[in-house]
Amino acid sequence: MSFRASVLTLYPEMFPGNLGMSMSGRAMERGDWSLSAHNIRDCATDKHRSVDDTPAGGGAGMVLRPDILGKAIDDVTEENDLRPRLLMSPRGKPLTQAKARELADGPGIVIVCGRFEGVDERVIEGRQLEEVSIGDYILSGGEVAAHVLLDSIVRLLPGVMGNKESGESESFENGLLEHPHYTRPVDFEGREIPAVLKSGNHKLIDQWRLEISEKITEERRPDLWQNYLKNNR
Ligand code: SAH
Repeated sequence: MSFRASVLTLYPEMFPGNLGMSMSGRAMERGDWSLSAHNIRDCATDKHRSVDDTPAGGGAGMVLRPDILGKAIDDVTEENDLRPRLLMSPRGKPLTQAKARELADGPGIVIVCGRFEGVDERVIEGRQLEEVSIGDYILSGGEVAAHVLLDSIVRLLPGVMGNKESGESESFENGLLEHPHYTRPVDFEGREIPAVLKSGNHKLIDQWRLEISEKITEERRPDLWQNYLKNNR
């Protein structure tokens, strides 16, 4: 069965959005993956269809209610649903390429998009939600973060990326940032394509690309560089 994503959100009309276009959109049309977006508000029970309430203990903003969100999660998960349940959250583990690969190898994913100040802690515990962050900044809702997460996963699904190699040589796959790219024209405003790339010597080219990858990683991302040194030298 193909990869199945269910998204819980207060803004289902934001989906599929960009995920319905380009590579991920074509993959969806082929049936390599499917996406359903569910409105959390459909699980509200009062006549105002409210989904949030004021924070216990006081303070600014509103909090998504655990009873409503819990019901919304239960409604999209079947018995024996093996899909991991994720909550987009700035407090979560930072998303990495390795995490995207791990999720792409699985049966699918259930994603909860927070809004307001966030969600009641008890639904995170009770439904065993794994918190995932897309970076150290605050968005106004989890929807854009869910798009980022799904985009990173879908391009790794079997058959989605045309040229398999172009996935494996990308930044982060080997712990390094990628080497620079060049294409025609050979001379752009006086800047030439590095001679080695025109040599036709693939061993030399690979060596040049690795060296420049290492140099760029060391300069730009000391954190990645230290890890790389630990694992490769
Ligand atoms: N009060 C929270 C922020 C709430 S932002 C805090 O200080 O931690 C509202 C929602 O946007 C969150 O519930 C989450 O679902 C989403 N969100 C915001 N920033 C995010 C990030 N960096 N990564 C993933 N989701 C994020």
